[in-house]
Parts: sequence; structure tokens; C-alpha cells
Amino acid sequence: MSKVAKAVPGTKDILPEEIGAWYRIEKLSRKIFSRYNFREIRTPIFESTSLFSRGIGEETDIVSKEMYTFRDKGEDLLTLRPEMTAPVVRAFIEHSMYSQSQITKLFYFAPMFRQERPQAGRLRQFHQFGAEILGSSSPYSDCEIILSAAGILKAIGLKDLTIKINSLGTPASREIYKEKLRLYLNDHLTSLSPESQKRYHTNILRIFDSKEEQDKKIMAGAPLLYEYLDEESRAEFNLVEEMLSSRGISYQPDYQLVRGLDYYTKTTFEIISGKVGSQSALCGGGRYDNLVSDLGGPSVPGVGFAAGVERILLAAKNEGIVFGDAIRPDVYIANLKRDDSAGSFRVAQELRDEDISAEMDILGRSMKAQMREANKLEVSFVVILGGDESKDGNCTIKNMKNSSQEVVPLNQIVIFISRNLHG
Ligand code: AMP
Repeated sequence: MSKVAKAVPGTKDILPEEIGAWYRIEKLSRKIFSRYNFREIRTPIFESTSLFSRGIGEETDIVSKEMYTFRDKGEDLLTLRPEMTAPVVRAFIEHSMYSQSQITKLFYFAPMFRQERPQAGRLRQFHQFGAEILGSSSPYSDCEIILSAAGILKAIGLKDLTIKINSLGTPASREIYKEKLRLYLNDHLTSLSPESQKRYHTNILRIFDSKEEQDKKIMAGAPLLYEYLDEESRAEFNLVEEMLSSRGISYQPDYQLVRGLDYYTKTTFEIISGKVGSQSALCGGGRYDNLVSDLGGPSVPGVGFAAGVERILLAAKNEGIVFGDAIRPDVYIANLKRDDSAGSFRVAQELRDEDISAEMDILGRSMKAQMREANKLEVSFVVILGGDESKDGNCTIKNMKNSSQEVVPLNQIVIFISRNLHG
């Protein structure tokens, strides 16, 4: 026997019984994005590798270890997108969106690819929805980003959520702070884990993300960026806090929240679920005031977020949220005459032509088996063809909710069902 074909580890099929949850999350996110006047953008799944190395940063985990990079036949180096901010900004620049309006608000819903070690809540192909506001440095746009993200998670029904916010300041204030951090860590360098010792040289702020106990202990005593924030970043951070409070949104300042991508400036945030174990961030984002110019565009500030759909689904499952099936036929056509598929087909098509979802037996099954199928499909009505009443041009329609039956002329089936379906 041939070997059974299998999906690549870290990738997942989304099965028909799961799709209802996906439809719902897409629908809710589109609804809430439209409240904030975000418009959808779709970009190619692969981009030039340099977009990500320039945009996200050579020393980040994503670029240094996790990208799916390959050479195509033209010898160009390409990468399956690991995130959407850099592609969105690339499109923003390429189509001169900045010259069409001063503020551009975009959202997306799309698959991403990262070569990480697969575990619960961590996949190699996963999906994100997210939004970007380009053209405003106002903290009000930071708030729109945080509130739209939180609004979607809330609309999905998630309750056990914590919003963590921090400010990474301007690049200038961050440089001053990094120097202080370096000085502090000089005395502890040999006690840090090997990975953190590496980060000391490449991406010092990320040592705050280490899960190693020895690192955590040392970092607990480290100076905090917040203490070195420039006036402007501090004032904007305070404004974000005030606005969140004024909307009754509870949040926690987390002065150790650094995030894994280099492009962030000023406000950063994450929304954490208490229900998904160690990979607890459902969503993350922040301001990136230099990314557009770093990628060759004009000096345009930006702020955005990305949320992971699979992790949201995990949190939803653990919170007991039920999404229901996406599609269920309304009518089942059963036929007592096993060889009369043509008759069943005609009725099914008449219903489908009137926008009514119908299913029929095509296996010539017994009446008992057909009724079992109708029950399984949870249809509202079963049209029974081929009984005694068919001699007079009639059929029987059974209402599956209250078990009542009615004899209906064959040419009245569609009218009868349409009238009763939503009545
Ligand atoms: P990031 O782009 O790393 O800030 O991630 C934003 C969100 O995407 C995270 O909070 C997760 O919900 C989700 N995410 C990131 N990486 C993965 C992954 N490998 N598998 C599943 N979800 C992910």
C-alpha cells in the first residue's frame, strides 16, 4: 500500500466543521473594521526577501531564523510573508497612497508563514487579521488601533483578556536607554543564558522576552525604558492611557513589553488571553514612525496591529464559545421510489433556483436511511416524493421542527417552503 499523504508539521487543514468559526471571526472583524473606516487590502503571499530584512530587521528572530525563503527560476530571493505590516507599507508606497489622502486606513485577513517549532498555538502557516493607519502620529490613532483590536476580540465573545501597553519612545531616547541597559548587563553578562548573551550584542531589548529563569531574575532588576522616555513619547503614552480609561477599557502598563520586530517606536501593546497557555498573546501591535521611510517612501508615520486567528480560536474554545456550523441545508428531498433520482433532482433544483438550500438522496437509499440523513443534516423540511399521494400530483412535506405533515401539490413545493421557511 502507498504511504498515507500527510500535511506538513505546523500546517493545518481547516475542516468543514470548523469553518463556521472562521466565517464568524471574518464577519465580525470586517464589521468592526468598517466601523473605524478601514478598507481591505490583499497583497501577494510572497515578496522580495529584502522587504522583510529591511523592514523587520536582520537581527530579529523572524528574519534571522523563521522565514521561508527560496530562489525562483529568475534567481530572485523571495520569502513567504511572515507578517503583513511590511507588505502593506510596500503597497502603500508603491501605489503612492499617501498622495491620494493624508490618512490611509487598511485592514487584512490573510495567511502568514514562519518556520517556528510547532507547538500548541504556534504554527508554520497561521492566519492573521490586522489593521494599519498610515499618515497620523496622533495618539488617537494608537487608540483606534487598540480599541478596534479589543473590540473584535470582545465581539467574538472572549472575556479573559488583558491589554498590556508600553512605549518604546523615539529611536533617540531608545538609544540612550540601550546604553544604560548595556551598562547594567555588563555586570551580569556571564550569568545570562547563551541566547541572551547573543542578544546582548544583536538585539538587547529582546532579552526582556527570555523565558529562562536566570534571565528573568536579572532583567527584574534592569532599568526600564520608561524612565528614559523623551517628553513627547511620555506625553503621548499618558494620553493613550487616559483615553483607554475614559472608554472604560482596563489595561496594564508593562514596561518590559518590547515586541519582536525592530520597526516599533513609541506605543506598543499586546492583548493576552488567560486561557491559552504559554503562547498567550492573541494580538500585538504598535507605532512604527520610521518604517515607511526605511522602505524608501516619504516620512509618513504609522500604527497597526496583528491578531492570530488560530490562537483566538483556541482561546474561544477554552472559554466555551460555540460558533455553530457555517452551512446547513434547509430542505431534504426524500424519495420512496429508489429509482426516481430525476424527480428528486427536479425538486432540488427548483428550490436552489429560488435561493433555498436543498439536498437530495443520490444513492437510492431506503426511506429510513434518507430520514436518518435528513435528521443528521438538521434540515427544517423534508419533501417526501413517490408516496400514494403522488398519484394525484402531490407530495408530503414534513416540518422537522414540530413533526407536522402536509400534502402539497408538486407545483407548489417552492411556494410552500419559501412561505414557511422564515415564517
Ligand atoms: P506578531 O506578528 O509576532 O506580533 O504576532 C501577532 C499575533 O500573531 C500573535 O499574537 C499570535 O496570535 C499570532 N502568531 C504569531 N506567530 C504565530 C505562530 N507561529 N502561530 C500561530 N499564531 C501566531
